[in-house]
Amino acid sequence: MYNELGISEKIENLSNEVEEEIKEEFKKIENISTYNSLKVLKAFKDNNISEMHFNSTTGYGYGDIGRDTIEKVYSQIFKTEDALVRNQFISGTHALTVALFGMLRPNDTMLSITGMPYDTLCTVIGIEENKSSLKSYGINFEQIELIDNDFDKDKIINRVSKNDIKLIEIQRSRGYSTRDSLSIEKIENIIKEIRKVNKDVIIMVDNCYGEFVDTKEPSEVGADIMVGSLIKNLGGGIASNGAYIAGRADLIELCAERLTSPGQGKEVGPSLGANKSFLQGLYLAPNVVASALKTAVYTARMMERLGYKPFPKYDEKRNDIVQTIEFGNPNDLIKYCQGIQMGSAVDSNSIPEPWDMPGYTDKVIMAAGAFTMGSSIELSCDAPIREPYIAYQQGGLTYEYGKLGVLIAIQNMIGMEK
Ligand SMILES: *Cc1c(COP(=O)(O)O)cnc(C)c1O
Repeated sequence: MYNELGISEKIENLSNEVEEEIKEEFKKIENISTYNSLKVLKAFKDNNISEMHFNSTTGYGYGDIGRDTIEKVYSQIFKTEDALVRNQFISGTHALTVALFGMLRPNDTMLSITGMPYDTLCTVIGIEENKSSLKSYGINFEQIELIDNDFDKDKIINRVSKNDIKLIEIQRSRGYSTRDSLSIEKIENIIKEIRKVNKDVIIMVDNCYGEFVDTKEPSEVGADIMVGSLIKNLGGGIASNGAYIAGRADLIELCAERLTSPGQGKEVGPSLGANKSFLQGLYLAPNVVASALKTAVYTARMMERLGYKPFPKYDEKRNDIVQTIEFGNPNDLIKYCQGIQMGSAVDSNSIPEPWDMPGYTDKVIMAAGAFTMGSSIELSCDAPIREPYIAYQQGGLTYEYGKLGVLIAIQNMIGMEK
């Protein structure tokens, strides 16, 4: 069978060896997945999820009981006062935009304590000039770099004790940078330190790619509000779009009034048939995140054995679903990405090529053959074509499909019949 997909005996044997080596990592991932499944199941039971919650509303969307109950389920899982889980959010970037514009006012200052924020947020904030940015409304931005992949505690405490910062942003995942992602323990420690000197500053976590990777979420260790996309972890590969914001009730109200309008807030927003997919996606999410993590661990060990540099390594603790691979040369990187496309369920016969994407300085190659366009909980791999030639891979709805995709990518890279 492997042969029919073009996978050589040599690679198949290597794969079998690697699977033996990574067994213990899989066990840890499964334990976390069981714990998170328990959280989800309990929230479904406590909120009496039933068929009526799959119903839909149109128009203004008043009294959408499914939508309102989904928000209660999210609040319970995250241990927050309230949540906003909406298909009116176009993306994670949009939800982060709504949250920032909802909570910040002219002359306020926002402080990132994880260095440069995610690429798309740079335009939202106004680090990249834009006439509709936060900056254009007179909202200031400052950032403090990480040191040795951890928070620069002294600098942060010194800055926030002045009491003139309105909001702190923490990005849990590495995004498209080579820094490490941040563990819940590190986030917990820094929040404790901040609270010793400043009780009022709003602490917001960009939780994209981080949900269900650990047993706790940032909201359980002191974050006031957190934001994530449903075409990543929590949509479980089932949600067709949407995002969430979860946190303190007063802040969720501000976000809701920014998403819809002042005075209407959470009361409106038709679910347009999305409720069932949000619930089913959330139900599957612990297992889907586990599959993505297993695919990442497998990739890390396979690539290491083949002489490439994975980050994190297969046995390092993970705080997001992103796996980076350093190829060291453009040819292997491009062939690998093209192979990921060949190993996808959808559009497996397209061949991605590096291209000049708007907003990027280097050419970028993007491989994704997904059921939901742009979904990165499904197996996907992208890379800017620049030294040292690093690709960012994430996703895998099931470990089996993730593994097969990676095997095809490897075979495409090293050449057929090798
Ligand atoms: C994906 C991502 C975002 C933005 O989400 P989109 O849905 O792609 O707009 C923001 N922050 C981080 C860390 C992400 O990984």
